[in-house]
Amino acid sequence: MVLKSPLPIEPETPGHICPLDQACSYLQDAGKELNLDPGVLAILSHPRKVVTVSIPVKLDNGQIQVLTGHRVQHSDILGPYKGGIRYHPAVTLGEVSALAMLMTWKCALLGIPYGGAKGGIAINPQSYSVGELERITRRYISELIKDIGPSVDIPAPDMGTSAREMAWMMDTYSVNVGHAVPGIVTGKPLSIGGSLGREKATGRGVMIIVREALAERGKPLTGARVVIQGFGNVGHAAAELLHQLGAKIIAVSTGAGGIFATNGLDIPALTAYRAKNHRSVVGFPQAVAISNVDLLTLPCDVLIPAALENQITRENVNQVQAEIVAEAANGPVTLAANQSLEARGVTVLPDILTNAGGVVVSYLEWVQGLSYVFWDEERVNHEMEKLMLQAYHQVIQQSKSRQISLRLAAYTLGVGRVAQALADRGLYP
Ligand code: GLU
Repeated sequence: MVLKSPLPIEPETPGHICPLDQACSYLQDAGKELNLDPGVLAILSHPRKVVTVSIPVKLDNGQIQVLTGHRVQHSDILGPYKGGIRYHPAVTLGEVSALAMLMTWKCALLGIPYGGAKGGIAINPQSYSVGELERITRRYISELIKDIGPSVDIPAPDMGTSAREMAWMMDTYSVNVGHAVPGIVTGKPLSIGGSLGREKATGRGVMIIVREALAERGKPLTGARVVIQGFGNVGHAAAELLHQLGAKIIAVSTGAGGIFATNGLDIPALTAYRAKNHRSVVGFPQAVAISNVDLLTLPCDVLIPAALENQITRENVNQVQAEIVAEAANGPVTLAANQSLEARGVTVLPDILTNAGGVVVSYLEWVQGLSYVFWDEERVNHEMEKLMLQAYHQVIQQSKSRQISLRLAAYTLGVGRVAQALADRGLYP
């Protein structure tokens, strides 16, 4: 039996990689390794709840546009649903469902008491004014009001959303229920109960995992050549932190294109340049232009895809020359490409481990809020690092003892914990 997407999602187009099929395939591999009952696997392959809402919004020019938003709640076996909300033109129900499933395994792997969810609206946020984005966000959240809650489902930022959207969400929810509920979202501004360290948390987590993986191979971080695709929240923070530790960031890119410098980029100077240059890195002095496609095939020690999914595919995988691929994005390596990298002995640091720093600090933010005690940044970073290192070492240990890849090791740990909780809770009725 091949575990396939349980949802009637968008039709297959030639060359299209169905993200939910891909997620189910990893789940199936983990199930096989763990000898899980097919019935349990069937439960785990289905999202518990799928919500699709219409979002009518009045644009600044007076026209009405109706958008579609999704929230997929994959599992709450271990605790409240948890996961980000994405604003990106490529959002589909299939993608959101796959990402919701990844959140379940990610939270379980990190040992934080959450289930998994994801939401999204298929828009390019840059095409809307701030006022329009606020109206879209508020209407989307009010449509979901009965499905979310601080102990039910807790959204967070993802691609295209940030603390600003979280504040609108928190306010909309709070006004609707009649009192302030800061715990409804994480990744909030500090002024309403956000956590220090949350903004850079995903990038910091990536840095920790890359640092450990290099150390494991006996390679110094100082001078290690690193290529980063994506210079947004995650890619940028990872670049900054790795640069501070002495790594040579030889190439970075945004959607508009990339830049490359053999001797390494001056990341603080690049950050200032990008701020002045409409978020693009292209044209940065002392670097040459490189396309997003060519950047992936540069010779380097560590390749960090930190943008969208399906970037390293069957088509380009043979040209990838990195020794370590650290999945800072969710699902940037396709199933076929993953097999090929593993066969070649390239270390693939799986997304559910590598990019878990964000949800870990979301959890720490939620804990601080619930206990009304707020920590300094040092404490937040320290607690986060502890959880990341614990998960990293468990994955290494699992991979060694079962002689399996790091991805399968991470999946078996995540899936195994959810399956165990399901067995303990039992099936109702
Ligand atoms: N969107 C982030 C992720 O994919 C963070 C989710 C969260 O903090 O809940 O892990």
